[in-house]
Amino acid sequence: TTQIRVGIVGYGNLGRGVETAIGLNPDMSLVGVFTRRAPETVATVGDSTPVFAMSDLEAGRDDIDVLVLCGGSATDLPEQSPALAAKYCIVDSYDNHAKIPEHFAAVDAAARPAGTTAVISTGWDPGLFSLNRVFGEALLAQGSTYTFWGRGLSQGHSDALRRVPGVAGGVQYTLPSETAIERVRAGENPELSTRERHTRQCFVVLADGADADTVRAAIVNMPNYFEPYDTTVEFITAEELERDHQGMPHGGFVIRSGTTSEGTKQVIEYSLTLESNPEFTASVLVAYARAAARLNKAGDIGAKTVYDIAPGLLSPLSPEELRANHL
Ligand code: NDP
Repeated sequence: TTQIRVGIVGYGNLGRGVETAIGLNPDMSLVGVFTRRAPETVATVGDSTPVFAMSDLEAGRDDIDVLVLCGGSATDLPEQSPALAAKYCIVDSYDNHAKIPEHFAAVDAAARPAGTTAVISTGWDPGLFSLNRVFGEALLAQGSTYTFWGRGLSQGHSDALRRVPGVAGGVQYTLPSETAIERVRAGENPELSTRERHTRQCFVVLADGADADTVRAAIVNMPNYFEPYDTTVEFITAEELERDHQGMPHGGFVIRSGTTSEGTKQVIEYSLTLESNPEFTASVLVAYARAAARLNKAGDIGAKTVYDIAPGLLSPLSPEELRANHL
């Protein structure tokens, strides 16, 4: 078997994760990293990983089977995914749920005439959580679906926190409510308000001369971000922030709770506990890159989501091996 040759587009947290994940998958090889920055200014985790300019992709390279796109969802992927799908098979982690249909259409329109295969919006949410929501709903026609996130570092809420006057630094963790999860697991099918589902935990370094109570009030009353939740604020030192809060943990639960006949409860639960959100998301992208390469080889082109891809295509094992050893 020949290796699947991968290029990484964009080298941030996710890009570094993909580089590491490819090293753990012997059926895949890394061609290099492609960046908008000057290549010589980008230091990779692996000593021998080549770094190229984005312009090196323009002509269409025949040494690449799939590009894993690691840009941000806000502004990078809406441009990069359709542009690159016009020349390469791609995988992206576009996570702006409301705009996924629009993104799918733009990528599909680029991929079809080019004969490429483009897997969009994979990762864990969207991605594995989306799959598990659909499994639950297809299998238990009567019931409710719950998604809880955390304990996890929220980039958006941490940014909002750091913009509050008097805050010198800080991070925000989203926590699922244990009480809510227990009620759902028990098959109660509760109606849960925003406040009942998640709580928010802030660790803040105060700026010199700032008043703790004023800062705390400004945070917990911030509309949309913190006001709809029970939010706690704990003040820490800059050293503690540096020492205890550098990781990017995340995870969560998808629970489908239903009944198959009067009074017969059935509960399905899928959960993730992640010490590194980007490293895990990257691992998912790499498995879907394998699927994209295989689909393209079989002539199955155009944009795809996790719903369109058979699970066996994610595995390095062949269909024969899977039938013999894993059913
Ligand atoms: P980063 O901000 O770390 O990187 C995004 C881009 O910014 C990179 O591709 C890179 O492009 C550029 N960049 C990175 N570091 C620098 C730097 N030091 N200076 C200048 N530019 C830099 O984002 P993440 O990797 O953390 O996340 C990317 C996306 O992943 C998120 O926007 C989100 O959409 C998605 N995601 C999806 C998940 C899912 O479950 N579906 C889960 C987690 C994330 P370049 O090299 O071209 O400069």
